[in-house]
Amino acid sequence: MNLYDLAREHALIASSAEVLGWDQETFLPEAAATHRANQLAWLTAKAHELSTSDAWKRALSGAEASDDRSNPAYSANLRELRRRFHRATKLPVELVSREAHVSSLAKHAWAAAREASDFTVFAPHLEKLVAIAREKADRWGYPDEPFDALLETYERGATTRSVAGLFDTLRPKLREIADCAVDHSSRRSARLPAGPYPIEQQQKLNEAVARSLGFDFTAGRIDTTAHPFCTTLGPRDVRLTTRYDENDFTSSLFGVMHEAGHGLYEQGLPDADFGLPSGEAVSLGIHESQSRLWENHIGRSDAFWWKWFPIACDHFPQLRSIRFEDFLEVIRRSEKSLIRVEADEATYDLHILLRFDLERGLIRGDLKVNDLPAAWNERFHALFGMTPVDNRHGCLQDIHWSMGGIGYFATYTLGNLNAAQLFEAAKRQPAVTNGIGNGDYAPLLAWLRKNVHALGGTLDPTELIRHATGTTPNADAYLAHLNTRYCG
Ligand SMILES: [Zn+2]
Repeated sequence: MNLYDLAREHALIASSAEVLGWDQETFLPEAAATHRANQLAWLTAKAHELSTSDAWKRALSGAEASDDRSNPAYSANLRELRRRFHRATKLPVELVSREAHVSSLAKHAWAAAREASDFTVFAPHLEKLVAIAREKADRWGYPDEPFDALLETYERGATTRSVAGLFDTLRPKLREIADCAVDHSSRRSARLPAGPYPIEQQQKLNEAVARSLGFDFTAGRIDTTAHPFCTTLGPRDVRLTTRYDENDFTSSLFGVMHEAGHGLYEQGLPDADFGLPSGEAVSLGIHESQSRLWENHIGRSDAFWWKWFPIACDHFPQLRSIRFEDFLEVIRRSEKSLIRVEADEATYDLHILLRFDLERGLIRGDLKVNDLPAAWNERFHALFGMTPVDNRHGCLQDIHWSMGGIGYFATYTLGNLNAAQLFEAAKRQPAVTNGIGNGDYAPLLAWLRKNVHALGGTLDPTELIRHATGTTPNADAYLAHLNTRYCG
């Protein structure tokens, strides 16, 4: 079999696992959980076996030997498949299964530790996860420091040095922006009119909005889960989920806009390249740029609500009692909070910078696991001017580290930076700007299709941003956006 056939077979197995995983999160009856876990473990093992097999290795080497570099997308696919093969085969089976075992115990320990707000319950597990992460980094190799290899898992081509450089630029400016946004909000008393906002009406509005952004419901759907997500089950099959709060319709709406942003990216990938890097999203930082662009740059803008506020009033008559200007204040309210997932646009990235510094310290060995709660609280105070009441509201709040996801957090802020930079570039097209002003998002989507979605994974994230915007990734557009919106 040639490499492309093998890669497609791998994608068929992996996408079958996605179907089972989606069903597990949405509709799976409780008693079916064990069998489902067995099915998923079996498919995951099959996919891994195939992608590290001798047949795969021979096909990859054969394809590389015959690559005449006349087709850049083909060469890019080979480069990326080689990178993945390297990463998959550098880890011995013993290490992979040890990690699976340690992280499954760690997840349970984390949940118990969080419940009891007792870090000592989680600490020995985190100790092991950090050691495994370092071991993996050593086996993969890295340019400067082990953390590079972990970042690479989520954001290919990113280095700790470049990300830390961006974050150092951001830190003092984000603190200023957060201060003025929070100060502004504290002097406003606008509140969303009291509920209920019936779920059925929310669903209607969410669907109308997602459709207007360009989400194709013949190739996707929206369901309900405790934790919203977007997953792709195959070409032309993108599933979004959200959750509903009967007292606040904006929570599910912005959730849907966020997930629809991810979904639009997936629906815009070239179908014919299914199973190849050129048919896949490039990285989490680019994926997150698509969700944040639609959620924040479109969804929290004045222009969006010029069109959608009257429609929302038709769905929820009580909205007629709030002034339009006050409604805009409500959806842009900013306050300093202890919990990342509850943070607003103006304060969110400070939560990420904190985590990035700490996990980098853990991997370098500068920070000992036992010192994490104190380091968290000290840094949190320096950034936010307040101290978490307990570890549950501090270093135990996120699931990521318990799953071994060290290096993941940075992609959220990279997504924000990328979103602003891409949006600024798109708006240089008069058709895009005019469309947004009229509630017509087709020109913006067409720009994203051409400059981001259609490229799949043929360029590294940094190259993609340079290609689409004309400049290397930087914080200028994002800071300008936040300043205009929150400190104008
Ligand atoms: Zn997202």
